[in-house]
Amino acid sequence: MHNIEKSIEAFKESSKVMPGGVNSPVRAFKSVDGNPIFIDHGKDEYIYDIDGNKYIDYVLSWGPLILGHADDYVVEKLQNAVTKGTSYGAPTLLETQLANLIQQYFPSLEMMRMVSSGTEATMSAIRLARGYTNRDKIVKFIGNYHGHSDSLLVDAGSGMATFDIKKEPGIPSEFSYDTYTVPYNDVDAITDLFDRHGNEIAGVIVEPIAGNMGVIPGTKEFILKLRELTNTYGSLLIFDEVMCGFRCALRGASEIFNVTPDLTTLGKVVGGGLPVGVFGGKKEIMQHITPLGDVYHAGTLSGNPLAMTGGIATIQQLSEDKFEKACSNVDYLCKGIEEVAAKNKVNIVTHHVGTMWSYFFSDKELNDFSDVENCNMEQFSKVFNQLINAGIYVAPSQYETCFMSFKHTKEDLDLTINAFDKAFSNL
Ligand SMILES: *Cc1c(COP(=O)(O)O)cnc(C)c1O
Repeated sequence: MHNIEKSIEAFKESSKVMPGGVNSPVRAFKSVDGNPIFIDHGKDEYIYDIDGNKYIDYVLSWGPLILGHADDYVVEKLQNAVTKGTSYGAPTLLETQLANLIQQYFPSLEMMRMVSSGTEATMSAIRLARGYTNRDKIVKFIGNYHGHSDSLLVDAGSGMATFDIKKEPGIPSEFSYDTYTVPYNDVDAITDLFDRHGNEIAGVIVEPIAGNMGVIPGTKEFILKLRELTNTYGSLLIFDEVMCGFRCALRGASEIFNVTPDLTTLGKVVGGGLPVGVFGGKKEIMQHITPLGDVYHAGTLSGNPLAMTGGIATIQQLSEDKFEKACSNVDYLCKGIEEVAAKNKVNIVTHHVGTMWSYFFSDKELNDFSDVENCNMEQFSKVFNQLINAGIYVAPSQYETCFMSFKHTKEDLDLTINAFDKAFSNL
């Protein structure tokens, strides 16, 4: 058992002043009966806790740190930027620079707005879809998470699933009334819904490669059907690529499926660890945003220079080569985990797309949320705690995704596979 005395003490203190001791629920390690690890610092693929323990990090701040922690170039750019001031509430060149960089990877964002989180990005995209179409209803899929705004926090996977929250206290029922939820990858269910209500639907929001119930990729047939139905009924198709953008493929899910959505939301990697969200899409639609149009959107810290710099410095360092290497590392790691699972007679299914990966305690194929719900959560929890003890920092819930950075090495992966081997053998 590694020593986490200081983290235990820190958690006691933080729990006095913050609900659950944390500022975002899944950090609390509650579902895995653990004490959260308090981080002192990170460098490249490693994080170091306040007791001095070192971990190979596959959470990477829940996705953003594709370059790993405290990347030298990003740090240098941020240090330079901070001396010039952190916010002006007036335009800077940096915002246009980041927008232009984003367009190199996501050309369908003909126009975009910068915000400070993924939640804000999806919330604003939904408002725009409603304002643009003059319709109220939206569609989301069970187990897809789009942040914690009222309309979207319905059957939302991620932390909601981890803590088994079925209803949404604090959200007036009218909000969920305007949100249709449909099982993921279910072509018949979505076709049926559009047959009945298509003319009332403002937009469909989807994680095209879902990552908030572990990695569950959308099928080609499903995503193409969404494009077809929304085109037919004049609804907007919104790709929520807050997690999978720059991750499932360098150019995101629209590259994988060769589908152009009407609107796209980005977050996580696009800020490289600083608070950035983006929503954007067709110019004709985006022109409905204030001050050009009448759909209101604003933000005191939107596009602030420090956050823009984090995003710019991160995207500037993306490359096909480095991305490919990270993908082959994911491949190697998942194969290794499957091998040691088979050796120890533990049922494991791994899923991975690009630099996103998951291991499910299941002996069946997984295509939607209900398949993930049926995983063996007790085994997940036991293995998780052993991995943490062994210095392997993975997501603390079966409903969350793990990631790979450009900095992880084969040596890290072999250490990780060995730790899984040992944890499986103790089940
Ligand atoms: C993380 C996430 C969000 C919310 O982003 P925040 O920055 O946490 O508000 C929205 N959509 C998806 C797909 C996400 O993974």
